[in-house]
Amino acid sequence: MEIINRIPRMISVARDLRSSGQRTGLVPTMGALHEGHLSLFDRAREMCDTVIVSIFLNPTQFGPGEDLGRYPRDLAADAEIAFTRGVDYIFAPSKEEMYPDGFTTFVIVEGLSDKLEGANRPGHFRGVTTVVNKLFNIIHPTFAFFGRKDAQQALVIKRMVRDLAMGIEIAVGPIVREADGLALSSRNLYLSTEERKAASVLRRALERCRTQHNAGERDCSRLISAMRGVIEAEPLAKIDYVAITDTDRLDPLATIPSGVPTLVSTAVFVGATRLIDNIVINGEI
Ligand code: AMP
Repeated sequence: MEIINRIPRMISVARDLRSSGQRTGLVPTMGALHEGHLSLFDRAREMCDTVIVSIFLNPTQFGPGEDLGRYPRDLAADAEIAFTRGVDYIFAPSKEEMYPDGFTTFVIVEGLSDKLEGANRPGHFRGVTTVVNKLFNIIHPTFAFFGRKDAQQALVIKRMVRDLAMGIEIAVGPIVREADGLALSSRNLYLSTEERKAASVLRRALERCRTQHNAGERDCSRLISAMRGVIEAEPLAKIDYVAITDTDRLDPLATIPSGVPTLVSTAVFVGATRLIDNIVINGEI
């Protein structure tokens, strides 16, 4: 168990692990660890010999006016949680370590990055793909683990890895939820008691879509109206978007095709906190 802050040390540890034939798993996170993250650590433990968790609150994926300044940070608490859960190394570089003076190189996955979250958070995925690419270059993991909670992120990263032939296996884990269906998120900490209750509305709306789909409804505008109806009935909730898209281009669909994985996703403000959630119909991403 070691917390590594410097890139050269991380490169050398990862290189030694590789040359001794170990399969390494990387789980990139921004800290404020919860069971959603831990489920990815468990998966990495099962599939790899050594598990490396990065904890880096990546400034380039936050827009101006977003919550970078108030995002919860407690490296000591996170390290304790991660090491207790069987993580071998934590890579926690400083902002200056990852973005030294004169940093000007960015990786952009065109098209996919501009849809859904990208349309509402310009530049977000440019920050994500750049930092994940840099983590991959430092660590060269055999596997990297991402949560389906951020479905578009997982798809964007899979595309980057494929397009640039990075040779890293991307594993996507299921969404871990609270008892009432709210997807675990570090941002749930921002919610007041009332807002926390209201926040289950995302899951309720998505389940409405699934139920109607199971009952035979295939028309996306009707399915979206039904989901909007659920969210609009919640006074503390304000819709950012509700979308039904394919998983290849993330383009909106008119009808849900049979046997083809289809992403149903939403972003909703509950009070001032922006929450996202999704389900996949007809398979997985
Ligand atoms: P973050 O720290 O928010 O950047 O998340 C790090 C990783 O954990 C990402 O791949 C997320 O998709 C994943 N993750 C976050 N919340 C959950 C959740 N509730 N269930 C599963 N994975 C999650």
